[in-house]
Amino acid sequence: MLAVTSQDHIQSYYAATVNDRTRYPALEGTVKADVCVVGGGFSGVATALTMAERGRSVVLLEANRIGWGASGRNGGQMIGGISGEATIERQLGKAGAKLVRDIRYRGHDIIEGRVAKYGIACDLKHGWMEVAARPRHMAALRAHFDERVSEGEGDHLELVESEDLRRVLGTSVYHGGFIDRRSGHLHGLNLCLGEARAAADLGVKIFEDSQVVALEGGAKPWVKTERGRVEAGTVVIGGEIFDRFGHERLKGLMLPTGSYIIATEPLSEAVVAEINPQDLAVCDSNVVLDYYRLSADRRMLFGGRCNYSNRDPEDIGASMRPRMVEIFPQLRHSKIDFAWGGRIAIVMNRVPVIEHLEPNLYVLQGYSGHGVNATHIAAEIVSDAICGVTEKFDLFDRIQHTRLPLSDLFGNQMLALGMLYYRLRDLF
Ligand SMILES: Cc1cc2nc3c(=O)[nH]c(=O)nc-3n(C[C@H](O)[C@H](O)[C@H](O)COP(=O)(O)OP(=O)(O)OC[C@H]3O[C@@H](n4cnc5c(N)ncnc54)[C@H](O)[C@@H]3O)c2cc1C
Repeated sequence: MLAVTSQDHIQSYYAATVNDRTRYPALEGTVKADVCVVGGGFSGVATALTMAERGRSVVLLEANRIGWGASGRNGGQMIGGISGEATIERQLGKAGAKLVRDIRYRGHDIIEGRVAKYGIACDLKHGWMEVAARPRHMAALRAHFDERVSEGEGDHLELVESEDLRRVLGTSVYHGGFIDRRSGHLHGLNLCLGEARAAADLGVKIFEDSQVVALEGGAKPWVKTERGRVEAGTVVIGGEIFDRFGHERLKGLMLPTGSYIIATEPLSEAVVAEINPQDLAVCDSNVVLDYYRLSADRRMLFGGRCNYSNRDPEDIGASMRPRMVEIFPQLRHSKIDFAWGGRIAIVMNRVPVIEHLEPNLYVLQGYSGHGVNATHIAAEIVSDAICGVTEKFDLFDRIQHTRLPLSDLFGNQMLALGMLYYRLRDLF
């Protein structure tokens, strides 16, 4: 029997500001359900809620606490589109291009609908911007803007030329940007906990401290935890779970890479008006990127990488602060109140994994750092497939993913090398 120890939410700005401290019990004994979902992040919780909304009985198993993983720690940027769009279009042709367009804001729609329907307080705000860290990035942003406008999206997009950037952000380090007012930002942990509460109210049986140690699909799917068992019609591995449950097809697929965030003390209204008057969430165009936004209580939440070794730094605050101050010297005296990190699940071709592993066993994971929108899209696509509507699922299931051989032995070194390569490329 595996020794199982569960963990509470890590210390972060999010954990310090949760508005629902509900504790769900651990699974004991055998329960039956139409669907058993493994993982209590956005992917799993959104799948459980969607299936419950459709009248199915659902069990959700979380090893630690709801929102313990990336969903409760992220930058909170709700970004249109999913990662790997170019690969989807290349591999699937016209059908891929249509898919990319059709789902671009689907996760936003789902999140906004649930925030309104279930009264989830998660500080949802609109306004997101990609900024050009190099002059060449601006040419790419301009081309992207033109293409999107030609597709009829001009009403919520805006291109900001270099000379106008100071009007939007109080820094002189960028070469322009692209604003998407349909995208935005939110408090991920409160969204995840709010969706879990809505699911529980609809009858989903949620179990925390219930790590899944084995599972099987096929004619009679089952899932096993240390002290319990679920017998279900369908099993969904719902989230960026690095256990493979003996499935070779999950091997070498996702590489965990560290990403870190610092939260300053609350800033004065005058500083906020100077550095980010439109309250936008911001990402730069680098592959190894900076991302930041203001929290509802006016803290700067500044995220990115600390190093290129893919090892957690000893002092996240000390590693991240210089980069933040380089961009916003106005924050040089601001105290850092919180610093934390998490794992981003990078997939080699960047396309989220939405697949069948066996009959009645689905997997959705690997959003390569763009999971807020994409998890909700993936959850709906898998829920549709379970209910017999397979059009979008079949397209994702056809995507060829690259699996890294020997990733167990050398995954960390390969990632470190890859990041170094992209960091050098970002510099020019
Ligand atoms: C620091 C950071 C910043 C990010 N910023 C952004 C951002 O700004 N915008 C954006 O779109 N995306 C961002 N992301 C990515 C995004 O957070 C993720 O893609 C998304 O949250 C993934 O959700 P998930 O449900 O698939 O996985 P997770 O949220 O990681 O959930 C997986 C859950 O499964 C549980 N689990 C693991 N093993 C087992 C088991 N054996 N049995 C039962 N349960 C198990 C874990 O405890 C965990 O709670 C960021 C990620 C990180 C780490």
